[in-house]
Amino acid sequence: MSKDYQKRTDVNELGEFGLIDRLTQKADLTEKSSIKGVGDDAAVIDNGDYLTVLTTDMLVEGIHFDLMYTPLKHLGYKAVVVNLSDIYAMNAQPKQITVSIALSNRFSVEALEEIYEGIYAACKWYGVDLVGGDTTSSPKGLFISVTAIGQGEREKMTYRNTAKVGDLICITGDVGAAYLGLQLLEREKQIYLSNPGVKPDLEEQDYLVGRQLKPEARKDMIELFAKAKLVPTAMIDVSDGVASEIFHLCKQSGVGAFIEESGVPIRTEAELMAIKFKLDPITCALSGGEDYELIFTIDPKDLDKVKYLPDVYIMGEIVDAKDGVKLHTKGGNIHELKAQGWRHFGQD
Ligand code: ADP
Ligand code: MG
Repeated sequence: MSKDYQKRTDVNELGEFGLIDRLTQKADLTEKSSIKGVGDDAAVIDNGDYLTVLTTDMLVEGIHFDLMYTPLKHLGYKAVVVNLSDIYAMNAQPKQITVSIALSNRFSVEALEEIYEGIYAACKWYGVDLVGGDTTSSPKGLFISVTAIGQGEREKMTYRNTAKVGDLICITGDVGAAYLGLQLLEREKQIYLSNPGVKPDLEEQDYLVGRQLKPEARKDMIELFAKAKLVPTAMIDVSDGVASEIFHLCKQSGVGAFIEESGVPIRTEAELMAIKFKLDPITCALSGGEDYELIFTIDPKDLDKVKYLPDVYIMGEIVDAKDGVKLHTKGGNIHELKAQGWRHFGQD
């Protein structure tokens, strides 16, 4: 046996993004119609008159959701939304989805029907059709994988690698709330586990819990962009966290970024809950994730087009790569922005 063959690298050494890079090194695009492969929110395929946009995401029980506090209907809804968000992040319209599930015999038909109620609710709200999928068994736990396919116009497609120095960095809504919603649900779970008699105390936390359990994708924003005749220079959705997404955008575009802490929108509910948990609100906002807002960059000449759009906040500027990715704090200090994006791969 050769030495190379014996080498064993732990996946945690590479991290999620390092692992994807390593596995996809040889994914050359040889088909003329493959416009964009690995590396963006969705793949882009040339269909002549229009572009087809394709993305897939898997949700794994115990990693992405906990059924102790995730209603099945919400789970189905979220599984669809996280995919549609990647299609919108290309400035395209989702049209169809497929849903693949793997489940153990712990789940009843009725439980699965509830998940599908959520899936159908998302299909109805976002105007997409469920057109297929796959069903199989799993020795343990529930897996849901959704693939979404959409359509977009060539001139309007927004990639991650096209931000330019001087562009303004915008975001479509507040961040950090979904993460704090999760902290809240986890806390109540632990309290419940140690004392099942105690009723969960989630009163007046609808906003945070809602952001975690029932996120929405920004279909409305894509429509507003079209109305305002605005084509962002680059765009990405916030799944892993603002900091991590800014890094992706900068790395791929070969630029740096200057983010104003005061420009990062945080809801009061999130700020108060962060303080309650003794967490720094801005860290929650930048590293929390699962907000499914859109981060996009615009040419400054388009400023007038976003000024009056509801829910658009300007949080920084694209700078030269050599200036790095920096955060200008409210206190007037300038720090390197840290991306704490990823979670460790668990053990079997
Ligand atoms: P997002 O957070 O937008 O869903 P990801 O971080 O999951 O994006 O993925 C980044 C890019 O890597 C995407 O283009 C995705 O299609 C690609 N990718 C992720 N995992 C794999 C894999 N196992 N094989 C090939 N491509 C992958
Ligand atoms: Mg994405």
